[in-house]
Amino acid sequence: MTVIEARAEAERILRGGRIPAEDDPSRDALVLLAWATGRSRSRLLAHPEEDVPEPEKFLSLARKRATGLPVAYVTGEKEFWGMTFQVTPDVLIPKPDTETLVERAIEVLRAHAAGSPESRRFFGARRFCEALDVCTGSGCVAVAIARSVPESLVTATDISEAALRVAEENARELGPSDRPIRFVLGDLRDGLPPPSTPDSPGYALIVSNPPYVPSDVARGLLEDGRGEPLLALDGGADGLDLVRALAPHALRALAPGGTFLVEVGEYNAAAAAGCLKEEGFLDIVTHRDLAGLDRVVEGRRG
Ligand code: GLN
Repeated sequence: MTVIEARAEAERILRGGRIPAEDDPSRDALVLLAWATGRSRSRLLAHPEEDVPEPEKFLSLARKRATGLPVAYVTGEKEFWGMTFQVTPDVLIPKPDTETLVERAIEVLRAHAAGSPESRRFFGARRFCEALDVCTGSGCVAVAIARSVPESLVTATDISEAALRVAEENARELGPSDRPIRFVLGDLRDGLPPPSTPDSPGYALIVSNPPYVPSDVARGLLEDGRGEPLLALDGGADGLDLVRALAPHALRALAPGGTFLVEVGEYNAAAAAGCLKEEGFLDIVTHRDLAGLDRVVEGRRG
């Protein structure tokens, strides 16, 4: 079977399957063929006449995708923040929305590490800033932060043991080797792990992409067969159960002057900001994602 025949056959399979309307079967077929053959997409496009080794193996990937399973779960990998993360259905697939959270997290940590007058007041001239990533999932946020800020010491937690295994593997492959990320299994409703250094004033940053989708919406999302873990999406009736549970623990675990950043839905960002305010956070700001939607709520411990 040639490249052009394999692509056409995969596209036929995908068009007959459960692919969300906004997805592009022709693109998915090409991405899967590139992954299956180890050839670049440009080579596949330039040489449609080349033979595809083991075409049945490739077509079985297309059949998996046709069940609604996202390409990332079929290939077991997803690009985020310029790196390739391993993913399994135990973790949410890293989404471009979350780059807003990472971008702001890095900005905040760099400011603390550079010792802006404000942060010097709280952190002194410390060499390292501690950061905590709650509900780490694949570990993509923790790894992106740890890699981007050489002065950061990152701890990451999750309630799911299976998710932590994926995150640990990603940290081993992609994280900084001089400052390994510390992983802690735990339920954020029971509290947060203390910072790793005994004389730490508390975390300079707590960041989280918790489950924040209202229960009925989360169940609806999964009807397309995407296979993402409900545990990682379902945030209760209004989506904010975990944000409400996390906010007081975060306030206590932060150093004075430390920053809390939480990703939420555009539909519950205003309510989340209200919850942080009620909890006693100061300087509350909402950041928009690249689509212009309210995505990340920020608050500071006074
Ligand atoms: N919209 C996000 C997603 O589909 C929701 C993530 C979350 O609840 N943390 O991945």
